[in-house]
Amino acid sequence: MTSRPKTVLVIVAHADDLEFMAGGTIARMADHGYAIREVIATNNERGTLEPEWSLQFTADARREEARRGALALGVDSDIEFLGYEDGRLSETPLNELRERCMRAIRRLRPDVLFTWDPFAPYENHQDHRAVAWAAMEAASFAHFPLYHPEHRDEGLEPHYVGEQYFFAKAPRDVNKAVDISAYIDRKIEALCQHVSQMELTVAGLQVDLAASGLELPALANADPKDYRPLIEVMIRTWGAGVGRRHGMAFAEEFRRQRFGGIERWARESGLTLPDNL
Ligand SMILES: [Zn+2]
Repeated sequence: MTSRPKTVLVIVAHADDLEFMAGGTIARMADHGYAIREVIATNNERGTLEPEWSLQFTADARREEARRGALALGVDSDIEFLGYEDGRLSETPLNELRERCMRAIRRLRPDVLFTWDPFAPYENHQDHRAVAWAAMEAASFAHFPLYHPEHRDEGLEPHYVGEQYFFAKAPRDVNKAVDISAYIDRKIEALCQHVSQMELTVAGLQVDLAASGLELPALANADPKDYRPLIEVMIRTWGAGVGRRHGMAFAEEFRRQRFGGIERWARESGLTLPDNL
């Protein structure tokens, strides 16, 4: 257990990324008194089933859903949106996106960063890949004063981020599992605040199911607008699967890097670093 509450920053591409990938862990950290802040890189404006919704209307709706999801988790709902176009983040120059992430880090001054794992395989979403590289690199160098020295003119000082938690759909080199058994309901509740994305998720699963030939009547006959029972089953199934690997009822897992060369030093010396959870 840590001796003082830390600040945690989550940098993601989309409104629902945090909830899907680390919602239980973040809720648990919030309960432990950690200050949690979130930066979302895109406007999420393609995340709806409603063909008549304009891009602007969708972006506004999803911004509001992100705030409700954050509140459900116990996260500060004052989310920073970087304003990039949904589905095209990888077309933003890495140097530009990294600068935006570094600026957020120097402003919010987190001890811990959560983001997508840039080294995990099989990530099909270009936005996830793009934000992963930018956030990881920004966190690795935000304490170097000559990286974007112009930030000092705005009163933003260099800042050291000691711990990085990376998540992925196909995680590699997992070295941290978090027991979210007491938080699985809150994770589901937070996800269900993302109305447009959850409708899209159920409709997408129905397309996958139809193509697969598998018979799952509960999914096949579901109305995407009545998404909650299916989302609940899906999140419990995923969380229980991860939990089985770690002897927990429900879990989330991460590849975690801590304190640069000190982590290796501690390991080789048989010393144990203090843990957050
Ligand atoms: Zn996403």
